[in-house]
Amino acid sequence: MKRSTFLQNTAAVIGGSLLPSIGIAGENKKSKIRFAYLTDIHLKPDATAEAGMAKALHHAQSLKPKIDFIINGGDSIMDSLEADKQKTKTQWDLFHSVLQKENSLPLYHCIGNHDVWGWFIKNDKPEADRLYGKVWVVETLQLPKRYYSFTKDKWHFIVLDSTQLNPAGGYIAYLDPEQLDWLKKDLAQTKDKFICFVSHIPILSICAGLFFDKTETNGDLKIQRNLMHTDFMLLKKLFMQYPNIKVCLSGHIHLQDELDYLGIKYYCNGAVSGNWWKGAFQEFDPAYAVIELYEDGTSERKMVEYS
Ligand SMILES: [Zn+2]
Repeated sequence: MKRSTFLQNTAAVIGGSLLPSIGIAGENKKSKIRFAYLTDIHLKPDATAEAGMAKALHHAQSLKPKIDFIINGGDSIMDSLEADKQKTKTQWDLFHSVLQKENSLPLYHCIGNHDVWGWFIKNDKPEADRLYGKVWVVETLQLPKRYYSFTKDKWHFIVLDSTQLNPAGGYIAYLDPEQLDWLKKDLAQTKDKFICFVSHIPILSICAGLFFDKTETNGDLKIQRNLMHTDFMLLKKLFMQYPNIKVCLSGHIHLQDELDYLGIKYYCNGAVSGNWWKGAFQEFDPAYAVIELYEDGTSERKMVEYS
């Protein structure tokens, strides 16, 4: 850094500290949106999983002050990528029955990789079935589309579909051209609102590199292309054109982190199912997030261990 730049920056910091009440999220901010973010529920026919999902929903709805709505961050069911039609139907039926009994709040859903039907079925892949791929999850959760947006007060929520099929096997996290095109239009139309993104797979996360709890043998951190958006560089450049983009919410990794990068908060929100209903995953107990979005574009996240 050049000395003159350094002095300018230093002056800016000193000047900034003299300004009255810049405001820290939570202080003197009455007007806000408050909601619970439940991700990676991974419901399956199993007493622990069913009781766990019910408990998380009860817990979120009994919070004081009350939350306004719930966002489901995806991986609602244990898995339909490899499951046959009957097993997939059983899981979705169960998911709806728990929701009907245990939830009375508005709910917004995001598609997780495990909610996609049939991609990894080895024999008799049901490609000709009308419900193959994402059709089933979009219909059963009554989504407007696999990606969509909605507005609450001063905030605009953009719910993305992170999971794309890798023809060579597995899946990769990125926005397909059609979705990216839609996103650019949606952003261009919403410059007067703060933006909160919802994606199942993190757009940016350090958790993504810690999922395996070890490095490559040469010491490199391992960030697989199904653990973080591979189009992050492209999205970063797009996001920099819109200073009203403030928050990105995700799940998928079952770990928790909170990053502040180029003016945007990236929150990776653990998992309601923890270690797929077998206790904690690494250091993180089963949990959900409470998110508060303020009128000035700031935000706060609190993780809640509900069990
Ligand atoms: Zn996932």
